[in-house]
Amino acid sequence: FDLAQARELTPRIDEAGEPREAGTLPDVLEWHVARHPDRLHISLLEQDEHAEPLTYGALADESRAVANGLAAHGIESGQTVVIMLPTSRDFFLAFIGTLLAGGVPVPIYPPFRWTQIEEHLRRQAAILANCAAPLLVTLASAQPVARLLQAQVPSLRHVLDVADLVSSRHHAGHVAASATALIQYTSGSTGQPKGVVLTHVNLLANIRAMGEAAQASSHDVFVSWLPLYHDMGLIGAWLGSLYYGIPLVLMPPQSFLGRPARWLWAIHHHRGTISAGPNFAYEMLAAKVPDDELRGLDLSSWRLAFNGAEPVRAATLDKFAGRFASHGFDARALAPVYGLAESGLGLTFSPLGRAPLVDRIDTASLAREGRAQFVAADALPAMDVVSCGRPLRAHQVRIVDALGGEAPERVEGRIEFRGPAATAGYFDNPEATAKLIHEGWLDTGDVGYLAAGELYITSRVKDLIIRGGQHIHPYDLEESVGALPGVRKGCVAVFGATDRASGGERVVVVAETRAVGDEARLALRRRIAELANAQLGVPADDIVLVGERVILKTSSGKIRRAACRELYERGLLGAAQRPVTLQLGRL
Ligand code: ATP
Ligand code: MG
Repeated sequence: FDLAQARELTPRIDEAGEPREAGTLPDVLEWHVARHPDRLHISLLEQDEHAEPLTYGALADESRAVANGLAAHGIESGQTVVIMLPTSRDFFLAFIGTLLAGGVPVPIYPPFRWTQIEEHLRRQAAILANCAAPLLVTLASAQPVARLLQAQVPSLRHVLDVADLVSSRHHAGHVAASATALIQYTSGSTGQPKGVVLTHVNLLANIRAMGEAAQASSHDVFVSWLPLYHDMGLIGAWLGSLYYGIPLVLMPPQSFLGRPARWLWAIHHHRGTISAGPNFAYEMLAAKVPDDELRGLDLSSWRLAFNGAEPVRAATLDKFAGRFASHGFDARALAPVYGLAESGLGLTFSPLGRAPLVDRIDTASLAREGRAQFVAADALPAMDVVSCGRPLRAHQVRIVDALGGEAPERVEGRIEFRGPAATAGYFDNPEATAKLIHEGWLDTGDVGYLAAGELYITSRVKDLIIRGGQHIHPYDLEESVGALPGVRKGCVAVFGATDRASGGERVVVVAETRAVGDEARLALRRRIAELANAQLGVPADDIVLVGERVILKTSSGKIRRAACRELYERGLLGAAQRPVTLQLGRL
């Protein structure tokens, strides 16, 4: 199957071609099917060479058969259907099928990391119980996991494979724009997973605003390895492409993680124009991929390289642009973006065609007065903060100070937002919803500042350490400790632990290392202490070296600092990991 050839065979949508009148995702699909049922929608890369095509027409027909099956299993309007599937054709059929049956899709991640199976079960059971789903769609090979989940969640009546759901007996259904289109559980880096309820109106408003900022059109080609159970892969890559008629070249996340250069080669082979990922993915490519895997690579087609979902690092952007310039990559394609599930996906986007904007600010004045003050390039301690751009059309952002007033330019505070994509709240969680929404504004849980209309994220509220009245920002130190030889990269947590004596917080640095021997460990501690002093302007109160995989992370790889802190305070950090007791088939 040759994608370039397939694109030529399918009619182009004209420039004005977007379903502006569509009120729901099924309307969007219907719009495309009415005009070009044979147009290529998704190319699923299974192995490096082989791609499985999915057209708009096939997606509609096969999803309808799944919708019939769901209706036959008693799924009624507004009921949740949990979808626990890897990146596959089945995922799309289950998702659209659920919508066509009037149900509410709830994507969750399939169990593929065996070392974390207990954590996986705990989280997925909490989600299934919260959304009270009667039906779970998963692969036959995940049945052992599904049965364990069923034992914990009494509301779960059926566990089915997509093939079990295909039915030709027609059940009609109508979908309203005000209906829930998706419940997106947040990554849970700050606690229990919360189900963000998004309507068709919310999703389409966000997709249209992002598409406008990106000047997306059917002439683009989106290349993605992002998982579909997370908003950037689900809404950004898939639903955005669905809406604009953009051919989506998709590979499973494991393909990318197994050999990161595959991402770039997919862009090369398919002349990809848009692709997205969190900062760590760009860092991996810039730092880890050997030169001989890049011979002949041409990235000149790549016009938009979104970097979001995690803090964006200036050093990574520099390294990436530097390394791939000789492969035709244009630094102006790098587009730092910010968003959160509570706003669909995107909230602020960097302007098109501009290289990233980086603020070098004085760490001390940020810590003491919350002021983002410029410093000279070589001054220390300093922080590089990357602009995440401007609010999307019709979306608004403001910075709120400790007293609840709007903060002036360059003053750090809580980031709040409102707009057409803003969720009305978390599913069956009035307490969390009450904390989220105040007088029409939603609290992002992040802190940052505005300058010249652009947003700079400095931390999550919960990650800020308050020590002696100063606000300590942990991420830069995590990064530089992670870069020390002997420390596992990305496996460092810096957090505040309650200081019983003062009531304030102590700065704790936890680093995973394979170093053995007193001397090596002492030297490592000394280096970490020096870095803390130089970068924070205050000493670290405790430095803890631990073994591999002690630091807790979310399914999307975010560090769970609050959970690490809890373990630390209870003296359980690094307590022996429990053995993996389950043997499961691969998903
Ligand atoms: P939970 O709310 O359960 O802890 P989560 O906030 O990680 O999960 P998501 O909605 O997937 O769930 O992620 C949004 C968050 O990711 C933002 O609130 C922010 O903290 C972080 N984030 C996203 N983009 C950026 C960015 N460009 N820079 C810094 N942080 C970002
Ligand atoms: Mg969040």
